[in-house]
Amino acid sequence: MTTTTEYDGEKAYMCEECGMHYRKEELAERCEKYCREEGMCNSEITRKSMERSG
Ligand SMILES: [Zn+2]
Repeated sequence: MTTTTEYDGEKAYMCEECGMHYRKEELAERCEKYCREEGMCNSEITRKSMERSG
């Protein structure tokens, strides 16, 4: 389950596994699922994070 939070003053969804923030809940859920199952981040997903996309 992703956490709804704020990042840089914007509503964000956080992956509870790696702590990356996303504007879309769908992406946060995909990230969390991947992180949990693979034990690492999927760069295809994390590059869409608010940390990476600015
Ligand atoms: Zn993650």
